[in-house]
Amino acid sequence: MPTDPAFRPELRCHHGPQDGNCARMEMLSHDYERAMQQQRAARNALDEAAQHTLTILDNMLDGVVTINRNGLIETFNKAACGIFGYGANEVLGHNVGMLTPEAYIGERDPQLPLFKTAGSNYLVGKPREMLGKRKDGTIFPISLAISKIARAGRPTFVAVVRDITERRQREEEIQRLAFFDPLTQLPNRRLLLDRLKRTQMNSARTEQHGALMFLDLDHFKLLNDTMGHDLGDELLQQVATRLKTCVREGDTVARLGGDEFVMLLEGLGQSPHESAAHAEAVAGKILGALGQPYALRGHPHESTPSIGIVVFKGDNQSTDELLKKADVAMYRAKAAGRNTARFFDPAMQATVSAQAALEHDMRRGLERREFILLYQFQVNAQGSPIGAEALLRWNHASRGVVPPAQFINLAEESNVGHLLGQWVLETACNQLAQWADQEATAHWTLAINVSPSQFADPEFASNIAQALASSGARPDQLTLELTEHLLMNATTDTQYKMNAIKALGVRFSLDDFGTGYSSLLHLQRLPLDQLKIDQSFVHALLTPTSEASVARSVVALGHSLGLTVIAEGVETAAQRNQLAALGCDAFQGYYFGRPTPVGELTDGQSEYCAAMPAGGWCETD
Ligand code: C2E
Ligand code: MG
Ligand code: MG
Repeated sequence: MPTDPAFRPELRCHHGPQDGNCARMEMLSHDYERAMQQQRAARNALDEAAQHTLTILDNMLDGVVTINRNGLIETFNKAACGIFGYGANEVLGHNVGMLTPEAYIGERDPQLPLFKTAGSNYLVGKPREMLGKRKDGTIFPISLAISKIARAGRPTFVAVVRDITERRQREEEIQRLAFFDPLTQLPNRRLLLDRLKRTQMNSARTEQHGALMFLDLDHFKLLNDTMGHDLGDELLQQVATRLKTCVREGDTVARLGGDEFVMLLEGLGQSPHESAAHAEAVAGKILGALGQPYALRGHPHESTPSIGIVVFKGDNQSTDELLKKADVAMYRAKAAGRNTARFFDPAMQATVSAQAALEHDMRRGLERREFILLYQFQVNAQGSPIGAEALLRWNHASRGVVPPAQFINLAEESNVGHLLGQWVLETACNQLAQWADQEATAHWTLAINVSPSQFADPEFASNIAQALASSGARPDQLTLELTEHLLMNATTDTQYKMNAIKALGVRFSLDDFGTGYSSLLHLQRLPLDQLKIDQSFVHALLTPTSEASVARSVVALGHSLGLTVIAEGVETAAQRNQLAALGCDAFQGYYFGRPTPVGELTDGQSEYCAAMPAGGWCETD
């Protein structure tokens, strides 16, 4: 119906009220007026409702943003302006993506771009917490609820946004107060027990041991009583900082109160003794770190801890029980004179103590020059010596000559391994340089065994370069024997290091080959010169077992990779001949000579050569 008065029908009556037509027209005119009034009222009501809605929206504490199906912002209420820092006119018609951090969109919420570009339904009806981005670029947490409505027949998304920064801060504060110690910011007893329970459950699943260490500072009360609580607090804070540097990332350092701290170590290994050794090593590190002098607000101070350790596996003991055991062990450490660590389990304590004694002995042995190298010949196909392997022995004052199997692993777990490895390297290089002076031995090579931890030392390549330089030994006469195990875990770092050493001219041999699982890829990629067939395959050569064929495969594999192949543990002529028939390039074993001191090696060489058949070994038997 037209609403403008200009379009009103001409309803004026020219004949007076008696006229029937006139009366009808009057009625029509009234109907029309009423209809117009009703329409105006309806429009006003609608306008009022819209105004009402707008007022509500603008007075809402939550941001309300409507977005069309293309992700473009259609309305943006006052609260949204306040939350995001934009004026409405700065965002209307722009993509909603401007309100979310890019990295978040890509990494955390891969579906969000869909929503941005196509208004995907995936967010609808699922309130969620995510991150928003303000105009000034700051990122902050928001809660977001989206619903979908139809507006003029088109889908529109209504997003209700709330800035939850303060709520998060409050939650974090509550969390901090409930689970952390206010003085040191370390986890408190409650969080420790919670983590302990979880660690126990993990341990039951993975069969890995964990350890709980109870630590108490020696004579802490004395400091508190004489120097005051402020200095005491200062010490506790510094102790907390030092403790954190002694454990791995996933481990927990907690403070129970007073001067009592607890460390929870996870994933220590499947063997109880290995795990005890790890825990002992961490305890040693802690004793070392806490034993360093402190400066407490300028006052120099010395402090030591006593540590009790309990190693556990699975969840068959309660958390309280474990804590009590660690506490009991800590009192044993105090009773043993403080500044030390003790295990709860006496058997574990016995093993660890024996190991500690051995380690101490080794250090002293190094000082007293009790370690020696024996040399075992390596011969070529003709039976002529081409060099030797250096094998370490410990000439112990009371135990006699100790083979490496009895101390190498333990040495590896401590710093002694590093010292021993360096000594072997230097001694071997000096020996090579001495052989170079004699015509008969000038061409000999010397192989040394390199342990994984020695190889892992970042200084390893430069240590070799230095040992070669200071001895004057020729690099191409030094062979480093690496084990398959070391190469199985080869990383690009391993490869890089091997290449750096190779660049010096040094050769690499892969020891005990066949006992590990080297991948062909590794063998191809690494700069190896030689494969050394493990003696178990040499001994199996003449037996009707599947292992007998391994030696054959190793020779073929080595040659196909362009490497020489040496067999170790050759004890009989029959083994040697069989290996020679397979094409093995070099041999080592009791058949050619036992590991001997260097003097006997060169003396014995003539004896050895005299025993050799005129035409070399190939023609014997
Ligand atoms: P390996 O490098 O595989 O050395 C060969 C081992 O076999 C030596 O034992 C050697 O004495 C022994 N052997 C040699 N010929 C025969 C034979 O014909 N029959 C038998 N049954 N055995 C033979 P050893 O000297 O006790 O060394 C054992 C392992 O200790 C070595 O195995 C090596 O892995 C390690 N090792 C030795 N010296 C060092 C060293 O200086 N540093 C490091 N990291 N490890 C070393
Ligand atoms: Mg070896
Ligand atoms: Mg070997």
